[in-house]
Amino acid sequence: MTGELDADVVVIGLGPGGEHLAATLARAGLSVVGVDRRLVGGECPYFGCIPSKMMIRAADALAEARRVPVLGGATEVHPDWATVADRIRDEATDDWDDTVAVERLEQAGARFVRGHGRLAGPGRVVIATDAGDREVVVRRGVVLNTGTEPAVPPIDGLADTPYWTNRDAVRLRELPSSLVVLGGGAIGCELAQAFSRFGVEVTVVEAGERILGPEEPEASAVVVAALEAEGIVVRAGVGVSAVAHDGAFHIGLADGTSLDAQALLVAAGRRTNLGDVGLETVGLDPAARSVDVDERMRVAGAGGLWAIGDITGKGAFTHMSMYQADVAVRDLTGEDGPWADYRAVSRATFTDPEVGSVGRSEAQARAAGIRVGTGTAPLPESSRGWLHKVGNDGLIKVVADLDRGVLVGATAVGPAGGEIIGMLVTAVHAEVPLATLRGMHFAYPTFHRAIETALSDVS
Ligand SMILES: Cc1cc2nc3c(=O)[nH]c(=O)nc-3n(C[C@H](O)[C@H](O)[C@H](O)COP(=O)(O)OP(=O)(O)OC[C@H]3O[C@@H](n4cnc5c(N)ncnc54)[C@H](O)[C@@H]3O)c2cc1C
Repeated sequence: MTGELDADVVVIGLGPGGEHLAATLARAGLSVVGVDRRLVGGECPYFGCIPSKMMIRAADALAEARRVPVLGGATEVHPDWATVADRIRDEATDDWDDTVAVERLEQAGARFVRGHGRLAGPGRVVIATDAGDREVVVRRGVVLNTGTEPAVPPIDGLADTPYWTNRDAVRLRELPSSLVVLGGGAIGCELAQAFSRFGVEVTVVEAGERILGPEEPEASAVVVAALEAEGIVVRAGVGVSAVAHDGAFHIGLADGTSLDAQALLVAAGRRTNLGDVGLETVGLDPAARSVDVDERMRVAGAGGLWAIGDITGKGAFTHMSMYQADVAVRDLTGEDGPWADYRAVSRATFTDPEVGSVGRSEAQARAAGIRVGTGTAPLPESSRGWLHKVGNDGLIKVVADLDRGVLVGATAVGPAGGEIIGMLVTAVHAEVPLATLRGMHFAYPTFHRAIETALSDVS
């Protein structure tokens, strides 16, 4: 064991929330040690949100250019992946180098140790570094922000093939001619559409009965129709039973059919990094899939331990990790709240049409025993949707608690669905009465004006 350190707070894992928390606490005058075994900033800037949204921005521009002939002239589109790959390497990830992020953290006053951090009993952390183990004695608390890895399902033959995950997909310099995407969640659908728009022949295979399973069924249906209209094959309700590779991938499906493709992208969910962080040394279950936290982000059953981000199971989003970081900072610095509130968790899936949603789906609201009323408004029938014409697919759906007269959830699918949902996030979070919402003005002719139609449809 080399170099014993001491600190007020040790942050194990520096995803978006952990990095923010470590810097904020250091700026507040606490002595902070931040630990990451890979890149400071975590999945989002290097392998997740940022590079994938750069791909999507480029793919959307191509799609808009292809729509020009319907609206105003002629275009010729010649996709060039090198432009996207260069932008991801140079602008988003510094060639997957976190020097700038480490410097930012250190300038804030934190110390950074690259290595694998583990709890070693209450108030102690051991960091395995290239130069040996370092032990840190912790005065105030340890914050876990260890995030996730791509989950790879135990499919016959898969492990022996050169399949890709998101971590490979964002580093591609050249695109394959054909691609099977295993998993029709947000990540799978976003990447499938982006690659397809660059000319890759794409099939999405989803074992669940529909893609974008956590979203409203109406939202899934709109996205399926849009993907299929662009030539993407969507195979939902069928699992993959075997995978082989002999230069090409051969993918056997549970219904006896098979698919051949040059590349296979596994986007089948995420596995939390909790197995090797020493949870057992503080009386917690190391096999747990998530960590139970209270409204201050304190871990139930372990004093002096906080957790934030994907490992808390409250929504695997960058904005959740950042939000929880601020809550934990308030607790660690002795502030009096506000504490975590999950009634209006929002998210956006950046397919085209984009899916923005907040709070409970209709099915979740019914399962919670709420007397539910719903209202929908198709965007193509709205004034803006009609004007917009090509690319106007989408709808607004609101889910109301009829007894309380408030919205408990909503979905906006369409151009800028992730922006339209913003107003509905406020409505759900602040429990604005339906009567108040119905008495508002909605600018003409905007997409969000369709919210007025959906509200008047609530029954
Ligand atoms: C392709 C893709 C697209 C996405 N798009 C979006 C999006 O558009 N919007 C959105 O909100 N979210 C998106 N996400 C999710 C988002 O990336 C995560 O929710 C976000 O990164 C928050 O994760 P986190 O803070 O829990 O930790 P992570 O970002 O997973 O970081 C955890 C860090 O902990 C480190 N670590 C783990 N164990 C240890 C250990 N024992 N010791 C030391 N270090 C350790 C890891 O190296 C890593 O750096 C996307 C994810 C993917 C994969």
